[in-house]
Amino acid sequence: MTDTLIERFRAIHGRAPEIVSRAPGRIEFIGNHTDYNGGPVLGAAIDRSVWVGLARRPDGRRRFASDAHSGPVDLASDAFERATGTQSWVNYPLGVLVAMRDSGIGIPAGFDYMALSNLPAGAGLSSSAAIELSSCIAFLEAAGQSVPREVLVALGKRAENEFVGIPCGILDQGVSGFGKRDHLVHIDCRGPTFTTVPLPAGSNFWVFNTHVRHALVDGLYAERHRECLEAARVIGVPLLVDATPAMLAAAETRLSRSAYKRARHVVDEIARVEQAVAALLAGDLAAVGKLLFASHRSSRTWFENSSPELDFLVESLEPEKGVYGARLTGGGFGGAVMALASEAFGEEGVGRVAEAYLARFGARPDVLHARADDGAALISRGP
Ligand code: ADP
Ligand code: MG
Repeated sequence: MTDTLIERFRAIHGRAPEIVSRAPGRIEFIGNHTDYNGGPVLGAAIDRSVWVGLARRPDGRRRFASDAHSGPVDLASDAFERATGTQSWVNYPLGVLVAMRDSGIGIPAGFDYMALSNLPAGAGLSSSAAIELSSCIAFLEAAGQSVPREVLVALGKRAENEFVGIPCGILDQGVSGFGKRDHLVHIDCRGPTFTTVPLPAGSNFWVFNTHVRHALVDGLYAERHRECLEAARVIGVPLLVDATPAMLAAAETRLSRSAYKRARHVVDEIARVEQAVAALLAGDLAAVGKLLFASHRSSRTWFENSSPELDFLVESLEPEKGVYGARLTGGGFGGAVMALASEAFGEEGVGRVAEAYLARFGARPDVLHARADDGAALISRGP
């Protein structure tokens, strides 16, 4: 991809980039709606990424191009207003510049910029975090700055929360930033603190995207968030991460039915994340798989953020040879299912699941095969 990026960069900007960076997309492995409850989450950085090429310009202008959009978008050095319409993708790199500036970190003056990606955008694999972190690494390098990885991750999140205006948690940027080949990233969202957990050899991921999404998904997220905070208040803890299963059981009669159900999912899910870490360290993928299925059942029953399409995919994957486990991945209310599989699951099994889905819902899910890969990094620094 680096060669293609250099070629496209030349075609648009008339010269080669000085700097090339890369940041991967991510899969939410287990830890559903645990982040804003202060709990842990496990994710995988995947071998699909956004690459960014950059070359400084002496005239102070910033020219943004992307393979996914027509352009380039040409901005003066003092232009930091949010872009709209077909140019709004620029808000991701521009938001990173603003986050750097507002954090007191030097930013490059003028530059030519080009993004190239093999990561589907808007498919729940966090292309947004990938373009943020890849851009941030290139900007830091161009400005002669260096920051700890925690700060890189925080800058990407700040850009998305404050400039783009999406209230995402730390999972997306944290996993893209701390990813490691053949490892999962464990995030304790309260720190946040980041560690990696080895993934036993031969395991890989399949993501089935339904492209079906509940129309009211933003409102449903907000409602779930409120119900979780209400449950914590009634139990008498700051966040649900502080509630044990026994505390939740003792509070059941004082909780509204919906607050109990949401809290039940979150409290159990937090325990499942730590059980998954223990099972991974023991190399017990069968146990990990059981936890993935249990997470999905809990989403369906307690958190009520699954859908008929997601349930169907998980049920179709369960009897397939080589599938350890599967669950909805991401916020839910539609979206995608992730399966952890061995090499024994391949195109034949995928075809069976996709055909069954087509027969039931009249459309084919998009299928993506991925492995756990390294996190965001500088690829090259030219002369
Ligand atoms: P997700 O993060 O799940 O892929 P989002 O809606 O959060 O979905 O982010 C997708 C947006 O990120 C795109 O609409 C686009 O604005 C931006 N983006 C992602 N990849 C690229 C790219 N290669 N070039 C330009 N913009 C991109
Ligand atoms: Mg995103």
